[in-house]
Amino acid sequence: MQIPFNRPYRAENELNYIEAVIRSGKTAGNGIFTEKCHEYFQSRYGYKKTLLTTSCTDALELSALLIDIQPGDEIIMPSFAFVSTANPFILRGAKIVFADCQPDIPNLDPRAVEALITPRTKAIVVLHYAGIACDMASFLKIAETHGLYLIEDAAQCIDAFYNNTPLGGVGHLGAISFHETKNITCGEGGILFINDPELAAKAEILWEKGTNRSAFLRQEVKKYEWIDVGSSFLPSEVLAAYLYAQLEALPAIQKQRMIIWQKYWHELCELQAAGCFQMPVVPEFARHNAHIFYLICRSPAERDELIAYLKERNISAPFHYLALHRSPYFRETQIEQPLSYAELFSDQLIRLPLFYDLQEKEVDYIVTAIHQFYR
Ligand SMILES: *Cc1c(COP(=O)(O)O)cnc(C)c1O
Repeated sequence: MQIPFNRPYRAENELNYIEAVIRSGKTAGNGIFTEKCHEYFQSRYGYKKTLLTTSCTDALELSALLIDIQPGDEIIMPSFAFVSTANPFILRGAKIVFADCQPDIPNLDPRAVEALITPRTKAIVVLHYAGIACDMASFLKIAETHGLYLIEDAAQCIDAFYNNTPLGGVGHLGAISFHETKNITCGEGGILFINDPELAAKAEILWEKGTNRSAFLRQEVKKYEWIDVGSSFLPSEVLAAYLYAQLEALPAIQKQRMIIWQKYWHELCELQAAGCFQMPVVPEFARHNAHIFYLICRSPAERDELIAYLKERNISAPFHYLALHRSPYFRETQIEQPLSYAELFSDQLIRLPLFYDLQEKEVDYIVTAIHQFYR
């Protein structure tokens, strides 16, 4: 048995739709399939303004441009995060201020954020780790009190909710990823949600290279012109077609992922009770999407031993983010402050295989191996 960490879902219609796009000759972005994808997110989830992008990184770059980041502006975000949470803001000259996670959940701690706010703070970027919502009531309050933008790196969060609001739809802006490693994929892709109506018209212009081409396509204007400074953030229709086929399968994918997540939960409960590790904590306000099943081990050494033990049994169970405040780039450019929980999650977290095709007997094999390790 050889068990990878992830295997992308293969949707029935993806090749048909891609072929249809290529045959149509309308392969550039913002066409029929882009429209279908936007419509899906608006009608199924109630997101207001949606823009497909070539990646979640790109959606965050568009966000940084939209909120008009200037050199010296400060952005508070978690250190236990991906480089793409930080890069888009650094590219516009912002200073990144890393805050720590909650002790029991790898999500940003609102109290840690509040302590770091200065007159130069422009935005807070939260990351909902494993599709488990951050404490958004606290973040909304902080953002409102201090007049800050609240941006959600909801890369992992398709079909996950904060109370009844889909993630990415709570702050001023939010972004989901369709990278190969996410619940649904088009290889590389993303979507930006513009929840602040004041940013919606500008977003569409920056997305289409700073032009009013979208308004032109809706026949609202007679010609399209250069209106603002933008870039090409929109994906080709070939990718939108691939994505739409995946979206059609989303309910089935989610159902299956949830079954696997629950099976891990039930079959590892006993080891958690014995104090071997901590499984995900899901607050009452969060409805997660079975993106990741993780364990927090007792020590860095034991985590590394568990990874090695599973690898010997052909199970790929990787660690995750390396705390960004300890990265070579950040240490070179800024003074590093210790962030104990970000460091703990970097050093002690392990992710178990979780994908649609993962078989029940494979989950049994993984669970048995973990039980054997702790025996
Ligand atoms: C995957 C991921 C990204 C990057 O998404 P891309 O679509 O690959 O740009 C950013 N942030 C988080 C939290 C992610 O999990």
